[in-house]
Amino acid sequence: MINLILFGPPGSGKGTQAEMLEKKYCLHHISTGDLFRYEIGNCTDLGKEAKSYINKGDLVPDSITVNMLKNKLLSIKDDHGFLLDGFPRTVAQAEALDLLMNELKLEITSLVALDVPEEEVIGRILNRGKTSGRSDDNDQNIIKNRFKVYEEQTEPVFEYFNKQNKTVMIDGVGTIDEIFDRLCEEVEKL
Ligand code: AMP
Repeated sequence: MINLILFGPPGSGKGTQAEMLEKKYCLHHISTGDLFRYEIGNCTDLGKEAKSYINKGDLVPDSITVNMLKNKLLSIKDDHGFLLDGFPRTVAQAEALDLLMNELKLEITSLVALDVPEEEVIGRILNRGKTSGRSDDNDQNIIKNRFKVYEEQTEPVFEYFNKQNKTVMIDGVGTIDEIFDRLCEEVEKL
């Protein structure tokens, strides 16, 4: 069983790569962004609350996010392992995840980070925005804020897992297949 965190800035290709890894290794792909968009699409109270943060490019508060993630993890029945995409995004979420792993007698195997420069990801997000229908992909100011939030609140999560010797950094520039090959090479080692 392997339990991975796919890490990287917005637009680094986590979603695309996670879908490919999910198929190849039968991992359960859990994207907190997708979970929020599902709640928003269904106009739930959680969705309404999350929307007010997502539309500004801010993070949804930890308490809401951790609770949603916990419910999702508890609903997984198979034991192939999971792949977290977009979580944890703060050190407090990383700590909550560790606690949850203890409770469930599971362990995070590794955090795999996609290394992509800022100019490249902003271009990718704007390009994705043409078809994704995501309002947070279409506005330069919101994208800039997502980046700032990433640098200030999310990057320290890498260090958190680095202290546990669980991090791997991968060059996230290249074709989708090239990046996928690099990721698979690392996953095979785990
Ligand atoms: P994503 O699809 O991963 O780019 O996430 C889209 C938006 O959902 C983010 O900009 C945040 O507003 C929110 N979001 C997703 N995951 C988290 C998380 N782990 N913590 C807080 N907010 C999140």
